[in-house]
Amino acid sequence: MRTICAILLQMNLNKLKTVFADLPKFRLKQAFKAIFNDFAESWDEVTVFPKDLRAKLNTDFPLGIKAELIESSDGKTIKALVSFEDTKGAEAVLMHHSDSRNTVCVSSQIGCAMGCEFCATGDMGFKRNLTSDEIVMQVLLFSRLLKRSGQRVTNVTFMGMGEPFLNYDEMISAAKFLNKELGIAARHISISTCGIVGGILKFMKEPFQFNLAISLHAPNNELRSKLMPVNRRFSLEKVLQAVAAYIKETNRKVMIEYLLIKDVNDSAENAKELVKVLKKYLVNLFVVNLIPYNPTGSRPEGFANKGTFAKRTPFKFEPSSGKNIAKFKAVLEDGGIEAVQRFSFGQKIAGACGQLGTRLKNR
Ligand code: SAH
Ligand code: SF4
Repeated sequence: MRTICAILLQMNLNKLKTVFADLPKFRLKQAFKAIFNDFAESWDEVTVFPKDLRAKLNTDFPLGIKAELIESSDGKTIKALVSFEDTKGAEAVLMHHSDSRNTVCVSSQIGCAMGCEFCATGDMGFKRNLTSDEIVMQVLLFSRLLKRSGQRVTNVTFMGMGEPFLNYDEMISAAKFLNKELGIAARHISISTCGIVGGILKFMKEPFQFNLAISLHAPNNELRSKLMPVNRRFSLEKVLQAVAAYIKETNRKVMIEYLLIKDVNDSAENAKELVKVLKKYLVNLFVVNLIPYNPTGSRPEGFANKGTFAKRTPFKFEPSSGKNIAKFKAVLEDGGIEAVQRFSFGQKIAGACGQLGTRLKNR
């Protein structure tokens, strides 16, 4: 692990149009190309602009993004802590895949109000929503970095800090902007939700081919409510009914995320129950993504904070063993359900998506 750089200054995309308001229209077009296609880091690089304009823009609209980057020792993952005007940071992660895809996992909020028991971000509580500019900036930062080695961001997942459907308008405008201005294919942009039903039903009407991922993590309401308090508001049935409506409307494949936590939700019984409930509500076009729990260390004293796992205190969540994961997967497949196993990226730099909060909190 090594810190690779700290980029200066603060960029505020909202200001861009105001700065260009008095200039001919084509100048704004040139500026957009420079920022979102050529990934300029300073106006000095934008040589289509006269020198005095470049100097003015460097003062009025500096292109720097303030961030601290930490690279994993194998170089496959880079975590960024991006700072904004009010100095509270958002975390974003770049993952290099062996098939040359470069995925950026972005945050949609700072912190999260959903309080899932296994999630470090949930443990932080909710700080504030991010604006679409602030979401786009997280991708832009990595686009600039990848440009140096002739690469581009190919995929974006909204799986960092926060619940995207509780910041719907900013999230969707960022996703559309990434598609339109940065040229990231809509089919390569995925939004993950803990199951905000209204958000799912709104999302299915969007005229874009974005992907939907659902964090399910439990096969029944009793366990899901313990792990994810949001389930008390939107039950498993309500969420799966909304997913069924989404599939019917869009004909798009949905990713069902299932975190495997040792002795909590990873038994063969749990797997059988999952087969049953998924088959009851979803006929086709879904895949279960099995994710080993990534230890966050956020609740070392156990999970009694909200009283849910009180009986087992002190109880610490641990990842399921490889053997159990394989068994769980086999039960799903025997039940005719497609399942894949995702290995958590960036474990060593606390950069696995959805559990980015811990280090931030300690800063
Ligand atoms: N709030 C949204 C998106 C952010 S979380 C959601 O919950 O879907 C992104 C993913 O990371 C979710 O599937 C979440 O359950 C998962 N996640 C959270 N904590 C994790 C941990 N400690 N280990 C592995 N995955 C985790
Ligand atoms: Fe929020 Fe998602 Fe973490 Fe739950 S898993 S607390 S919804 S970020």
